Order: sequence, then C-alpha cells, then structure tokens
Amino acid sequence: MVRCRIAIIASLCGLPLAVLSAPATTRQRFEFRKVLMGVECRLVLYAPDAPRAREAGAAAFDRIAALDAVMSDYRPDSELMRLCAVGHHAPTKVSPDLFTVLRTALDIAQASDGAFDITVGPFVRLWRQARQTRQLPTPSELADARTKVGWQKICLDPEKRTVRLAVAGMQWDLGGIAKGYAVDCALQVLQRFGVAQAMVEFGGDIRLGDPPPHRAGWRIRLPEGAQPAVMELARCAVSTSGTTEQFVDINGQRYAHIIDPRTGLGLTRLTVATVVADCGLLSDPLATAVCVLGREKGEQLVRRYNARIVFFRQAP
Ligand code: AMP
Ligand code: MG
Repeated sequence: MVRCRIAIIASLCGLPLAVLSAPATTRQRFEFRKVLMGVECRLVLYAPDAPRAREAGAAAFDRIAALDAVMSDYRPDSELMRLCAVGHHAPTKVSPDLFTVLRTALDIAQASDGAFDITVGPFVRLWRQARQTRQLPTPSELADARTKVGWQKICLDPEKRTVRLAVAGMQWDLGGIAKGYAVDCALQVLQRFGVAQAMVEFGGDIRLGDPPPHRAGWRIRLPEGAQPAVMELARCAVSTSGTTEQFVDINGQRYAHIIDPRTGLGLTRLTVATVVADCGLLSDPLATAVCVLGREKGEQLVRRYNARIVFFRQAP
C-alpha cells in the first residue's frame, strides 16, 4: 500500500526531461520576479543567453498564471470554484492539473488522518472573517461550517477524471498545495526550454533543478533557529509552513491561518516546519500537515512519502 502510494506520487512528481543543453560552463545566471497568486515568485536560472532566459522565464510565469485560473479560491470563475458550485449534482470532468492536485490532496488527507484537508474552506472563511472583526466564530457558525467540511465528501474517478461532491455548498481551499504544484510545473517548463539548472521559489515553497555550475546544490536558508542555518540541495523541493506570518490575535490568543480541522480554528501554538520531498506537490501539503500533527506524527507521515522534516519548532 505504502509502496504503491510512493509509486503513484513519484509519477506525479514528473521526471526531469531529457534536454539539449549547452555546456554548463558557458551559462550565465539570470533572475526574474513576478507577483502571482498574490505572492512573489522568484526564478533563478542558468541559461546560455538573455533571450533564452527571458523566454523560458516568461513561459514559466505564464504556466503559473494559468494554474491560478484553475485553482484560485479568490476568483469565482476559477475551475475550482465552478466545480464547488455544481459538483454535487453529478460527477464533473476536470482538467488534468486539477485532478492531479486533488488526487494528491486526498491521498495526504487520508494518510494524515484529516490533518491536511482541502475542504477546510468554510473554516478558512470564518478565520478571514475573524481577522476582520477580531471575534471568534460562534459555535453555531462552526457547526454549520463543519457540515460542509470533510475530505471523505469528495469522490474521485481516476478513469473518467471526474469529481463528485457529496454535499452542496462545499468550499475547497488549495492554498496548502497549489503553490507546491506550481513550482513543479514552472521547473518543468524551464526544463523544456533546455534550462535544467534552475530554482523556483514561491512563498514558502521552493523547487530545485540541477545545481548551479560548479556547485553541489543550491544554498537554501532554513528558518531562524535552524542548525545548520543553510542546506545545499538539488533536484528536490523544500517547503516551510508555520504560524509566524499570518495570524489574528483575539483576547490574547493567536490564531494562525493553518486550521486544525478537528477544532475548525487556526493553530494557536507557535509552530514552524520545513519539509524536503521529491516535488513541491508533496513538500507543500506535508509541511502544512506537519504543523497540524506535531513532530512525532509528522515524522510518521512524511516517511510514507519518502520525505523528511529538516526543521521543526513548536512552542510548548
Ligand atoms: P501553507 O502556507 O502551505 O501551510 O498553507 C496554508 C493555507 O492552506 C491556508 O492559508 C489555507 O488556505 C489552507 N489551509 C489551512 N489549513 C489547512 C489544513 N488543515 N489543510 C489543508 N489546507 C489548509
Ligand atoms: Mg503547505
């Protein structure tokens, strides 16, 4: 079962493409930045010349913008939002990108015993409301939201690539996995342009291709307090999640943007986790799940995906 899970996920991660590339020594470093999905995306790549670098970089950004149109929960016209609106009537065929993300999200939901759950959208909306009003949701608001939450309420048919929602009014939130998938897709685009020595950084999610010339890896800075502070990595993904950047303080208690699906409320303990996996499609949701689960259960979870926790901090 576990072996099978890794095999499926490995195929989703995508193997590096065979590319025709100039010798590494003739390559120059280029860096591009663009705000996408509300976050700055940074590309660092080594290419033979500026036109090739610009073309590859623009195509990678275009790919991410296209994914935003599929997965955003802020855009009412996104494929995700349209699916949530009608998907309870009948099985609905979805794009390969959305299906790939949903399949992995459900796999991790099951493996994490629901700690990672993309159906937490109604709780996330209550958290956003609390951030405005500085008031916690009422028990009845939480109970109402809970009727629409639960990964078991999603039914996927891999053969027909269809999705069905068991109840109406579900609001899915891919905020804990979409950027991880996006960095994978962006790197794949760069590779298609013959740019294999590349790094894609998107908020807390980083996907690394081949290392820069004459180096064993990319130097990745870990969160404050990590020892060592920097790791040299290549051909993998690194994601950091935590409660330190997005939160609301209510009555002296801090509620972070990561929801504990058991309570429906944001995490209250200071927690930071960094996970290294084969691809962002795994490292991103696993880092979020580890924050909810804590270190011990988090370790058990990431092992199932050939991943590792390289940094973890939690207040007592
Ligand atoms: P990340 O920054 O990758 O840890 O993802 C956090 C985002 O994922 C939040 O802003 C929500 O959009 C979404 N989210 C919050 N809690 C969960 C959860 N328990 N499972 C899945 N997604 C979540
Ligand atoms: Mg995440």
